[in-house]
Amino acid sequence: MLIDCHVHLNNYYTSGAEVPRPTEENVQRLFQEMARHGVDHAVVLTSYKVDVDRPSVEHVLEILAEDPRTTVVEGLRWRGDSRTDLFHMEERIRDGLVSGIKLYPGYDRYAINDPSLETVFRIAEKHDVPVMIHCGDTFAADAKVRMAHPLLVDDVAVDYPGVRFVICHLGNPWFQDTAEVLYKNENVYGDISGLILGDFTYEFERYLVTRVKDMMSYMGDPGRQIMYGSDWPLVEMGPYVKFLETLAFDGEALENIAWRTAATLFRIDVSALKTK
Ligand SMILES: [Zn+2]
Repeated sequence: MLIDCHVHLNNYYTSGAEVPRPTEENVQRLFQEMARHGVDHAVVLTSYKVDVDRPSVEHVLEILAEDPRTTVVEGLRWRGDSRTDLFHMEERIRDGLVSGIKLYPGYDRYAINDPSLETVFRIAEKHDVPVMIHCGDTFAADAKVRMAHPLLVDDVAVDYPGVRFVICHLGNPWFQDTAEVLYKNENVYGDISGLILGDFTYEFERYLVTRVKDMMSYMGDPGRQIMYGSDWPLVEMGPYVKFLETLAFDGEALENIAWRTAATLFRIDVSALKTK
């Protein structure tokens, strides 16, 4: 069984020639890729803004219509023109339509420990849904990467012990800082998504495998807090599943990383998924 805890339905452009694709088509591509690469369930994260390339959470919920292959995590829109209405977000969480909150610090020009986020964390705590946080390197050069440093997750993990946080991308390139924050705080998790964009060269793969394995050695207890995620469509699903294999986890650690921890955190009904 494999759960990908980190995918998007946005359009991303690698050349200037592409045209915006409707979200319905991106959903079809997602399901095709999942079937092709043996991914049983995917957690879809909405964006920190809404535009022609980034569908709103309402639109995504409408298209996915509680499809058992997906779980929706709502991206917080905090600094732009159309900010998240927390009242409506809480209703979606209460009604079980949304299973988590995603923060985009740096991109959205606030830091992980910004005091304005208190209400957001209180909602997460009240409904016991995880807060996923983009940490580390930003895809956009106009984002402020310092605000997304994984060490700042320690601040909120300590201040909000009743909230479970997820450090996305293992805080790349601050793997050692992430290892410390994970080791120290029981309420912090990490996903291995988005570590490679585009081509996966042998050299870089070897570098990443070493970094991730070093983290595990430092933390001990491998797999308890780490989850599989890809960051599709920014990365290809095939090479990413292969990356998980290259990390060579086995037994209980692999089960936890591949699906069990995500199933618990997002309350995914695994009995509805096929067993492999
Ligand atoms: Zn992502």
